[in-house]
Amino acid sequence: MTDLSRYTTLGTGGPARELARAASVAEVEELLRRGLPVATIGLGSNLLVADEGVDALVLKLGGALAAIEVDGDRVRAGAGAANAVVLHRARAAGLGGFEFACAIPGTIGGGIWMNGGAYGGDFAQVLVRALVATADGTGWLTPAELGLSYRHSNLEHGQVVLQAELRLEPRPPDEIKARVRELNARRKEAQPTNRRTFGSVFKNPEHELSAGRMLEACGLKGHRIGGAQISPKHANFIENAGGARTEDALALMAEARRRAREQYGVELVHEVELLGPIHVT
Ligand SMILES: Cc1cc2nc3c(=O)[nH]c(=O)nc-3n(C[C@H](O)[C@H](O)[C@H](O)COP(=O)(O)OP(=O)(O)OC[C@H]3O[C@@H](n4cnc5c(N)ncnc54)[C@H](O)[C@@H]3O)c2cc1C
Repeated sequence: MTDLSRYTTLGTGGPARELARAASVAEVEELLRRGLPVATIGLGSNLLVADEGVDALVLKLGGALAAIEVDGDRVRAGAGAANAVVLHRARAAGLGGFEFACAIPGTIGGGIWMNGGAYGGDFAQVLVRALVATADGTGWLTPAELGLSYRHSNLEHGQVVLQAELRLEPRPPDEIKARVRELNARRKEAQPTNRRTFGSVFKNPEHELSAGRMLEACGLKGHRIGGAQISPKHANFIENAGGARTEDALALMAEARRRAREQYGVELVHEVELLGPIHVT
């Protein structure tokens, strides 16, 4: 049994039934044939894993499944490749359009899973197709077939994203560098970039206030339960303030939802992905 807290940016979560590393399409296909429930994790930057663990074979992708290839305006990236590395390769090749991902500290697979995005860009805008494996076979799916919409795809555990083909556009590397610098500075100003978090807790509601502004107005900045606290810098982030457990983060989320419901009549929907027996109240 391998503890997954080492593999999440919040640093919480119990063990997986089994953790396997896969470095090729064939290895993933073989693991899927074992017939166990399967979940794939990237860099755990959008993930709350149950404290009691996950009764599944948890896959981490590397090797050929993290390789990156540039061909004209196409970038083919293994799903295990970190966004930052893909962005670096794209910039070196003079290809722009992926700058939005500069501050999304995850992998290509995790980005497709939730159609990650920032500053007006998202995966749906650059993705041509993704290679996805299941126990029944492997094939390419388009963004429409993946059902990509705001921070959402139709992907389910048991479907493993192996590779993505992105279409980018010619752009001078210096221009890309300047844009990335600007976006990172904006990010640093507004968000707790030097703390253990899992990114935005809730999706922005259809309301004049963003989730962060709403929770700030509810007086939740700095609110602490156990080892987890709502970030004093941005109320839509939960930080590991020392020894946090997933149950602490979940208790904060329940409190935030309760206050948003009572004060604004808004049902906040969580953006973070949940793995294991977690029931959101
Ligand atoms: C400081 C900070 C800032 C962030 N800012 C943003 C932001 O601006 N915009 C944004 O969209 N997100 C943001 N995030 C959240 C997170 O980085 C993204 O959601 C990212 O895309 C998650 O990628 P990951 O590889 O870490 O996935 P994980 O967190 O490991 O997994 C997320 C989900 O994807 C699934 N998954 C991962 N890889 C695969 C695969 N290969 N095949 C099938 N399923 C897979 C997992 O099972 C899980 O359900 C932020 C997070 C942090 C910590």
